[in-house]
Amino acid sequence: MKYFGAHVSASGGVENAPLNAIAIGAKAFALFTKNQRQWVAKPLTDASITAFKENMKKGGFRAQDVLPHDSYLINLGHPEVEAREKSLRAFIDELERCQQLGLCYLNFHPGSHLNQIDEEASLNLIADSINHALSCTEGVTAVIENTAGQGTNLGHRFEHLAHIIDKVEDKSRIGICLDTCHTFAAGYDLRDRKTYDETMAEFERIVGFKYLKAMHINDSKPKLGSRVDRHHSLGKGEIGLDTFRYIANDSRLEDMPLVLETIDSDIWDKEIELLYSFIADT
Ligand SMILES: [Zn+2]
Ligand SMILES: [Zn+2]
Repeated sequence: MKYFGAHVSASGGVENAPLNAIAIGAKAFALFTKNQRQWVAKPLTDASITAFKENMKKGGFRAQDVLPHDSYLINLGHPEVEAREKSLRAFIDELERCQQLGLCYLNFHPGSHLNQIDEEASLNLIADSINHALSCTEGVTAVIENTAGQGTNLGHRFEHLAHIIDKVEDKSRIGICLDTCHTFAAGYDLRDRKTYDETMAEFERIVGFKYLKAMHINDSKPKLGSRVDRHHSLGKGEIGLDTFRYIANDSRLEDMPLVLETIDSDIWDKEIELLYSFIADT
């Protein structure tokens, strides 16, 4: 079964996120458990945690249907010790918030080398940070998102993802989220049957579907290989609708959150409906 949804608002409290997901017919959802543009947040209150869990039940959502996303400020591969430790503390706090909410994933962008160290050194720092964070938390899997490779962001090559996984000690708590827009912007074509199959086969060969925990379902404003991260509504961008038809019918993508981060939240209900209409429509 496919679990399509969207990255819904948690404004007014995390407990509102499952309600916002229910309202658009989502079977899965993503959320920020704190303001994604700030370093520190107030701890989650017991009332908010209880209400979140009640609203999860209301929507029939299981822990694995939810893909919390961490703050944009965090850079686990930061070349400078102090800045990296600040990121690591914030990352651990994010993992703990997921744990408090009874959730099992935390989705994050791997990090950036900022042109101060080489790619490999930064990837090693990211893996070190993940190992540290996993060793002092429980129950939550760190889900690395592939990136468009904008600026000095790492994670745009499947090899980067494989490098990090290879260095993570607890393989049972590391996973991958593939973002279709980022994949395409990073230079992996997905637009027709042949290129979709080739890209997915390359992912299997270099990383492995056993690590795939979730996907972000976005069309792309920029062209193939542009390394610019700008999402678009499904069918309105450079990727086109066929790719989303392949995804809806790809048996490797069953039972995981497939989450829209498209730009027009007013049509998320329609986009989810469209994705479900694609099933067995090839
Ligand atoms: Zn994404
Ligand atoms: Zn993006």
